[in-house]
Amino acid sequence: MAAPHVGAGTVSVQEHLRRILDATRRLPSERVPLRAAAGRTLAADLRAVLAVPAFDNSAMDGFAVRWADVAQASGDSPVVLDVVGDLPAGSEHDPALGPGQAVRIMTGSVVPTQADTVVPLEDTREGLVDGQAHVTVLTAPRHEGRHVRRLGEDVAVGDPLLRAGTRLGPRHVAAALSAGHTEVEVVRTPRLAVFSTGSELVDDGSPLGRGQIPESNGAMIAQLAAEAGVEVVHTGVVPDDDGHLVEVLREVRHDTDVVVLTGGVSAGAYDVVKSALGSTGEMGFWTVRMQPGKPQGFGVTADGRLLVGLPGNPVGAAVSWEVFVRPALLTMQGRSDAHRRVVRLPVTDGWPSSEGRTQYVAVELDTSDPGQWRVRPVSVGCSGSHLVASLARADGYAVLPEETTQVEAGDLVDVLLVD
Ligand code: AMP
Ligand code: MG
Repeated sequence: MAAPHVGAGTVSVQEHLRRILDATRRLPSERVPLRAAAGRTLAADLRAVLAVPAFDNSAMDGFAVRWADVAQASGDSPVVLDVVGDLPAGSEHDPALGPGQAVRIMTGSVVPTQADTVVPLEDTREGLVDGQAHVTVLTAPRHEGRHVRRLGEDVAVGDPLLRAGTRLGPRHVAAALSAGHTEVEVVRTPRLAVFSTGSELVDDGSPLGRGQIPESNGAMIAQLAAEAGVEVVHTGVVPDDDGHLVEVLREVRHDTDVVVLTGGVSAGAYDVVKSALGSTGEMGFWTVRMQPGKPQGFGVTADGRLLVGLPGNPVGAAVSWEVFVRPALLTMQGRSDAHRRVVRLPVTDGWPSSEGRTQYVAVELDTSDPGQWRVRPVSVGCSGSHLVASLARADGYAVLPEETTQVEAGDLVDVLLVD
């Protein structure tokens, strides 16, 4: 049976997301030092400027040798070589090495031009000894070139390294530095303002009066934004007063790419976002067929700044962030992965789902069996949009399509992983 609130004029999650993404533009790019680029998104493909490894170098502490000298070495017939040089890491020397000679070499040092193989110290009688003149090789290396890391065996100069749209995490930064980059072209960091509307909200720790509650959406969204690579430039609580909201927005609008407002978007008597911004036409308001997150507001200014109005219910705000706002912010950064990872997992317990609305249920992962992760709703009520305390345990949201009416234990559900 269709839920009574679903009627003409409602839109699907996909339709509303499309509306937002269609209005979202990638921001311009800028060059920044690579070491300061963590978390930024690459604006252009990177190719290797240096080969990795940058030169043939030793994989072990030991002795650089000529393969022909040691190919037959064994415990029964050890090979004694003259030690004619010493190469600590970073040494620029290229000691000459004739037949029957070896050079002490440390991990990472350039292999001498006249050597082709490295014998680890463990395969010698003496090991590494100060001032040693000879070394006795007890075990032949398995093949010529053994324990030599080859120039360019990971990437060669000019090879593709990282693609535009990649978020620079710690491993990307290491790869780019190793391949010779010091600066990168990244997309400008989006600037976001988040305001929580509601005359009942208290955000300064002062004692709560009757009917007042602690503000939580603004703090949650500020952190979610930071995790999405966004700079939060303004935050605050605005009472349910049209004039006040209009004034606050006038002050911050010019230096933000996105303004997120929570609360005041539905059809209540004091729904400030809807009354203040709907009447001017700056924002439109839609009933989206989803639970939670049904009332949504969205607008775009003439110069391309986004205005997003999310429902005030904390779970609704959290889900709406994942479904609509985060994808837009990542698209703004040119990210190739604008969506959370989705994994299909069985549920531990069933629950009813509302037909005609895409349902998002906060779930925690049960990882006790590494071979089969499962998910369980974080609250018994499953989808109450006010159950913010249980939301703390969520690892993700199970997404049930509009037509689903019931989920049974063991059913497979798609889970949007948020942690
Ligand atoms: P609204 O969307 O303004 O009708 O708010 C819906 C519910 O969410 C009400 O119970 C509000 O008190 C609560 N709420 C709204 N904004 C916040 C906020 N920033 N932090 C915590 N709860 C909120
Ligand atoms: Mg409100």
